[in-house]
Amino acid sequence: MFGPKVEIKTPAQLATMRQAGLVVAAVIDALKQNVAVGVSTAELDEIAHDVIRSAGATSNFLGYHGFTGVICASVNEEIVHGIPGQRILADGDIISVDCGAIVKGWHGDAAVTIPVGAVSRKNLDLIDTTNEALWRGIAAARVGGSIGDISNAIERFVKGQGAYGITQVVTGHGIGTELHQAPEVPNFGRRGKGPKLADGLVIAIEPMITLGSSKAVILEDEWTAVTPDGSWAAHAEHTVAITDKGLSVLTDPDGGEARLASFDVPFVSFD
Ligand code: MG
Ligand code: MG
Repeated sequence: MFGPKVEIKTPAQLATMRQAGLVVAAVIDALKQNVAVGVSTAELDEIAHDVIRSAGATSNFLGYHGFTGVICASVNEEIVHGIPGQRILADGDIISVDCGAIVKGWHGDAAVTIPVGAVSRKNLDLIDTTNEALWRGIAAARVGGSIGDISNAIERFVKGQGAYGITQVVTGHGIGTELHQAPEVPNFGRRGKGPKLADGLVIAIEPMITLGSSKAVILEDEWTAVTPDGSWAAHAEHTVAITDKGLSVLTDPDGGEARLASFDVPFVSFD
């Protein structure tokens, strides 16, 4: 899907990818602060664009195969790839925001699902499960392991939490000098299967979890993926560098140091 080429990064290149990741982290932070009842997804897109521009970075989403946003804004039953526009957020909604940035030719990519106003316990649990699935996937990555280790960690965790669906048609991906590279990183699979994880590989891990179907339907706008049964969905994503010395979560403000420690996974800084 993303071509056969796996791009291995040097430590200097990873340091530049960290700069891109920190811009993405700043966008995510600004969006968390600005999501509220009555705000439109177009307003959120403008806020994200301002953060990217003021950091001296550029957007990798804007113009991607004709995409018109700096962020993807996916509300409720929208899983991913929602187009920012005039939709106004309502009390009880959940909105997944996905965004990226380019610094000196190197890409970052992350996503988070944010509750709007008073959100039901069921939907808060969906968000928590998705966030935790992301970290279980991250913590399963190590040099010499395989993509399937990550996929399986996500799948096993989600299935252990209840009757959730794992969206199957969209996957994580390699990332570097392009937004989407090999290898694909599915959110379900078998331990030990798939491409090997090498020192200097960077991947975006991004579970998309629903309260129902594992399938997706694309709307007439040719972008927005929604659940066929109308069940609500959440999305969480980080860009993760895999090295001999440990992992670095390039789009997390602290590089993943705190969460990786909770899993006893070695952390390496590229700050
Ligand atoms: Mg993304
Ligand atoms: Mg991605």
